Amino acid sequence: MAEVIDGKRIAAEIRGEVKQAVDELAAKGVVPGLSVVLVGENPASAVYVRMKAKACEETGIKSEVIKMSEETTQAELEAVIDRLNADESVHGILVQLPLPPQIEEQDIIFRIAPEKDVDGFHPVSVGRMMIGDLTAFRSATPAGVVELLMRTGNDPSGKRVAIVGRSNIVGKPLSVLLSQKMKGGNATVTLAHSRTPDLPAVLREGDILVAAIGVPEFVKAESVKPGAVVIDVGVNRVDDDSTEKGYRLVGDVAYDEVFEIASAITPVPGGVGPMTIAMLLTNCIQAAREITGVS
Ligand code: NDP
Repeated sequence: MAEVIDGKRIAAEIRGEVKQAVDELAAKGVVPGLSVVLVGENPASAVYVRMKAKACEETGIKSEVIKMSEETTQAELEAVIDRLNADESVHGILVQLPLPPQIEEQDIIFRIAPEKDVDGFHPVSVGRMMIGDLTAFRSATPAGVVELLMRTGNDPSGKRVAIVGRSNIVGKPLSVLLSQKMKGGNATVTLAHSRTPDLPAVLREGDILVAAIGVPEFVKAESVKPGAVVIDVGVNRVDDDSTEKGYRLVGDVAYDEVFEIASAITPVPGGVGPMTIAMLLTNCIQAAREITGVS
């Protein structure tokens, strides 16, 4: 039976550290500021934005949410980003993804000033992370996974890690972080995806297994090495009439059966999700320090 990795508790610990950093900056006249841009009516995005704003409030980071309609044009969104880039009270800019289809997502990410790219999605941030620049913004979810491992005594150094899912926001950057020659890295990483033959055998090689595919309960016990540490990034809504909302959240891992053979496992919700938000806050502190030169 696995130990349950309590992402909520560890995220609360990090928020405490962020709050302390905010207090120290405030004493020197700097209030870290985050602007979140929400375009359209995607209900999951609205929930994520609310959670981010709440976390900012709790830690003393000044946040504003800019809501724009589903019909927003590329030019209108770019004008907002230009304004935020120029605003000295804004240290971090986050455009909640996904964006409506008329908007070219990559162009928007590219438009954000790299020094305010607290999501770590800008090619400058990604490139700096790739070459092992320790001062680069690390995108929040991969950074959260590394932090979870380190803070639970599961240093990936020297371990074999199997990741399934190669998206630009989770799997791919995580594979880079974990294989980097630095603290929190030094693992031997396999990055699997939908074209990987005999996926269960590949995943079974992992002392640490990370699932980030967006398919409910896809990773079964047969894909898990006994004693592995299992990190479930997936957040999937499945219909469930017995709940008040009519759905429940499940991960990409078949939790009950994998729980029996893993040594540690993250629950969904309450695992990686809270860590993503906590790491966003730490990126905001870093941005405020670098932009103002006050540390
Ligand atoms: P994407 O849809 O962008 O990428 C999914 C990846 O999974 C692709 O690389 C795809 O392979 C692979 N994949 C899909 N189906 C299979 C399969 N049957 N077998 C093997 N590989 C498969 O997803 P994201 O990375 O954006 O998100 C993944 C999950 O993580 C989602 O549930 C999402 O909600 C969650 N998430 C959670 C966050 C958090 O904070 N907890 C943050 C971000 C995401 P291929 O490339 O070959 O198509």
